[in-house]
Amino acid sequence: MDRQMKEAANQQAQVKVLKFGGSSLADAEHFGKVKEIVTADPSRRFVIPSAPGKRFGNDTKVTDMLYECYNISAAGEDISEIFGKIQERYNSIIEGLGLDLDLKDEYEHIQWAITHHAGRDYAASRGEYLNGIILAAYLNYDFIDPAHFIHFADNGIFDAEKTNGLLSAELAKHENGVIPGFYGSMPNGTIRTFSRGGSDITGSIVARAVLADIYENWTDVNGFLMADPRIVDDPKGIDLITYKELRELSYMGASVLHEDAIFPVRFAGIPVNIRNTNNPADNGTMIVPHTNKYDTKNIITGVTGKKGFSVINIEKAMMNSEKGFGRKVLEAIENEGISFEHMPSGIDTMSVVLNSHEIEHCKERIVNRICSLVEPDSVTVEEGLALIAVVGRSMVKAKGTALRVFKACAEADVNIRMIDQGSSEFNIIIGVMEDDFEKALGAIYHEFVK
Ligand code: ASP
Repeated sequence: MDRQMKEAANQQAQVKVLKFGGSSLADAEHFGKVKEIVTADPSRRFVIPSAPGKRFGNDTKVTDMLYECYNISAAGEDISEIFGKIQERYNSIIEGLGLDLDLKDEYEHIQWAITHHAGRDYAASRGEYLNGIILAAYLNYDFIDPAHFIHFADNGIFDAEKTNGLLSAELAKHENGVIPGFYGSMPNGTIRTFSRGGSDITGSIVARAVLADIYENWTDVNGFLMADPRIVDDPKGIDLITYKELRELSYMGASVLHEDAIFPVRFAGIPVNIRNTNNPADNGTMIVPHTNKYDTKNIITGVTGKKGFSVINIEKAMMNSEKGFGRKVLEAIENEGISFEHMPSGIDTMSVVLNSHEIEHCKERIVNRICSLVEPDSVTVEEGLALIAVVGRSMVKAKGTALRVFKACAEADVNIRMIDQGSSEFNIIIGVMEDDFEKALGAIYHEFVK
């Protein structure tokens, strides 16, 4: 076989699952780009659409319009006007694509159901449902309604195993398919959605069910950036990142992919490729379970952070030999139903970093309880802290990374208030005062990216 034939045969054997976000399916023009992408590769067999998103700055997403329909109907008012606008959006896509498709009966049924108590999740889910029907017709792929295959338990939690069994059996029957994102059903048959942005999760669930070679998540950016472009000018893109690194970066704020979308694909060891529908020539960011690729030039994969933290500092002589000291301090926090972010400690000092917003109403109670449980020499609460996470798998192999982080901060005249290095050695977290946040983050980025 010559090389081209081999490549073609190889592609045939692969299965790719693609999810397109709302901005990638906002109008007929974008549907055109989506079709080009899907048909460019025969292994792109299963497609998950979001509902139509914004076409321009102050446009409204169809999902938001559907929530509005639900609210209006729940208030006992007429939804015809806003529902009419939703129909217009879909009709203009159908017309723009020149499809011979009439959704009149669907619209009638949906409008009737929303006004007859079908529920908030049902209303919201119809954005993906209708977009799925249109996309399936346009691609000439089978339409597969996730209401029959993606299941939630009675407590509302996604039932991964039941879903995987049913969905993989069903998808095995289809050569190609469009599966609307964002929803599934409860044991009693009512529709339930994931949280906002949940089509990412559906894509991941489908990828696991068909044991895809890759899950391509198509959106409107070229993938992940090494830093927030609002803080750092023109930051570099990330080509390759592990699930673990991504988890650290997204926890602190980098958001392109829904947090829960990682779990199904990670479980099955499937890589995720973030791609740009408006720039398919760019390879985007590849998210992989593991890699041996350590980049000696780029020690860090990304730097991110968040404002809005407080630290409780506790001091007591001989604290280190007192049994149960840490447990009691944490108990005082747990009692308020709050989880802590970090807990750096010294010999006679211990600090707990908490989310300021969460302790607003119970700060005094926590301090009083700590005082009565461990009788410290002093307790102080410091507010206005920002955390910065410097993340990179290559840090394990490199010496002097922490030094460079500190040097960058010192040269930018930023005082570091707290340091925490995860035991896995792929992240260093520092605390700085909120006013220093942007300055410190920029300085760290430029120290590592020359
Ligand atoms: N359409 C839903 C939302 O706007 C889900 C999604 O787009 O992933 O949140």
